Amino acid sequence: MAEQQEIQLWQTVQPVEFVPRIKDQSESQSLLIQTRQAVGYSVAGGQLAHAIQSRATHMLLDYTKASCAIRYQVDGAWEQLPPMERELGDAMLVAMKQLCLMNATDRRSTQAGKLGLKVAKSKFTLSLQSRGTPTGEQVMAKIEPDKVPFERMSDLGMRDKMHEQFKESLDAHGNNILITAPKAEGLTTTWNIALEAADKLVRDFQSFEHQEHPEPEIINVNPNYFGGDTGKDLASVVKSAILKEPDVLIFPEMPDAESMRLAVEQIKKTEKQIYARMVAPTAMQGLVAFLAKYKESAAEIASTVGAVIGQRLVRRLCDQCKVGFEPAPQLLNQLGIPAGRVAMLYKPFIPPPIEQQVDENGRPAPIEPCGACAGRGYHGRIAIFELLVPGDKLKAALLKTQDLNQLNQIAKSEGHRGMQAEAVLTVARGLTSLDELKKVFAKR
Ligand SMILES: [Zn+2]
Repeated sequence: MAEQQEIQLWQTVQPVEFVPRIKDQSESQSLLIQTRQAVGYSVAGGQLAHAIQSRATHMLLDYTKASCAIRYQVDGAWEQLPPMERELGDAMLVAMKQLCLMNATDRRSTQAGKLGLKVAKSKFTLSLQSRGTPTGEQVMAKIEPDKVPFERMSDLGMRDKMHEQFKESLDAHGNNILITAPKAEGLTTTWNIALEAADKLVRDFQSFEHQEHPEPEIINVNPNYFGGDTGKDLASVVKSAILKEPDVLIFPEMPDAESMRLAVEQIKKTEKQIYARMVAPTAMQGLVAFLAKYKESAAEIASTVGAVIGQRLVRRLCDQCKVGFEPAPQLLNQLGIPAGRVAMLYKPFIPPPIEQQVDENGRPAPIEPCGACAGRGYHGRIAIFELLVPGDKLKAALLKTQDLNQLNQIAKSEGHRGMQAEAVLTVARGLTSLDELKKVFAKR
């Protein structure tokens, strides 16, 4: 076949370095030497390097009779790549499975394994999952950087004013902070960055974590484990931690009612704080669900709730190629932006159809895709945050009703800017596009 002569994507990049998840150095070394013998080794190394270079967080391989279809997920959107010839794709998968300590000959069972990757100085973790399908096999490769590439809430998209307000709540006394996000929308990242943002230098932070799924280490946050083979339940661990009068009690997972009761009692009594994390579509829905879960302690929780964060992920416009346009007054009106407030909105650059890409003499002059975003128009993702700081009226109403419309009305009357308004602000700041908002908000 002529195609075989063409340079394939995996050949265009410097391959990754593999770091098998084996403690014994010589065992690890011999696995590398053994795997390197086969052609699949360099294909796997090149393909994964290409995926990382393309900023893919996931790579999906779909094996059918003739070929191996490849898709990347970049900034939450799937992209189709040219397929790989089946034979080569098979060789690549054998290498990946061997390096992930999986059974390479078994192409039917559901299997999973992990492997460390290195590109220059950056380290990544590859999580491979495979399962047989009627036509062949499907493989999902998740690629995560070992170091979170964000440091501050503003890196995640939080506007300065909101950050100030949030920080004030984080460092306050006698309140509880709830951090929410819809499922698979960056909750863990926001949570970790929020913990980093809190003032931990002179305060004592105690976190309660199930032994079988511990949290990543954060400086000055002390983990207390329960479950697994600790032989302890959460409530008893909370009880003994409280004896030391910590400043902040941290619940990465929703605790049972008894543990929450103990924690709430403590913060009421000693002016301390609770931080909790939960999956919820909006801040208000999260707060309502939180109160519903802890009915016994609802009155105490409602009276002490300091701040609730909600969030939604959107793709960030590429700064290199985004296109500014003067919004029509009618559009601004629709968006609720007062006239004269925003001179320019932005949209992704979309090249004209190829037949219109010509020079002044009408000769074909294809437009080079943007080097920063590879012609996607977007680069990376940010969160649109909402920060709900309930006032007295809302705190009282939360104990009487779960009607979201009514509660949102009250929040608005207390000056809360909802998710929609925050989304418009994000567009006005030139960070994302109206098209992207439509897409994201239409999903639900
Ligand atoms: Zn660009």
